[in-house]
Amino acid sequence: MKYYVLFGPPGAGKGTQATAMVEKYNLHHISTGALLRKEIAAGTELGLQAKSLIEKGCLVPDEVVEGMIESEFKSVKGVDGFLLDGFPRTLPQAEALDAILAKNAEEVTATVSIMIPDAMIMERIKGRALKEGRADDASEDVINNRIATYHNQTEPLIEYYRKSEKYHEIDGIGTIEEVRDRIFNVMNKF
Ligand code: ADP
Repeated sequence: MKYYVLFGPPGAGKGTQATAMVEKYNLHHISTGALLRKEIAAGTELGLQAKSLIEKGCLVPDEVVEGMIESEFKSVKGVDGFLLDGFPRTLPQAEALDAILAKNAEEVTATVSIMIPDAMIMERIKGRALKEGRADDASEDVINNRIATYHNQTEPLIEYYRKSEKYHEIDGIGTIEEVRDRIFNVMNKF
């Protein structure tokens, strides 16, 4: 099984590119953000807890998303691998992922990192807000907090994956197709 981590700041285009990646390589797409939004829509206890954190631009607790990932790994069959989008987002999550995979003698295959400058994050998210109507895309303060959360809590993962030579950086500036082809060029190596 292949286990790809799709990495990058909010608004980098992870969700958009994930769609093309799962189709081409027969992967199952796991977006922790989408799974959390599903819990919120269903009005579950977990959704209620997640809602207030997400709407402030904060992360939900590590254990919550780690549990979601593990249950997806167990329940999905018939694919060649998994594409993790928006997970891991903290160092403890990255370590938990390694531990979950190690139990089954598996490991992360590669981290594909889509990079865009901060100024572009705001512009992209504002554009998406008009189309998707996500509550956490509506306010500039919340977006700024998500950018800060990314720099403080998620960016250290670059070093973590670089050390194990699993880190592949992609320039996220360009058309959707241009960025997609850069990603495919990397993934074709695995
Ligand atoms: P974006 O890429 O725009 O940040 P996501 O859909 O990936 O959007 O995530 C939306 C929100 O869901 C995040 O801001 C965070 O509050 C929460 N979330 C998603 N994934 C995680 C995670 N792995 N750990 C903690 N919180 C998460």
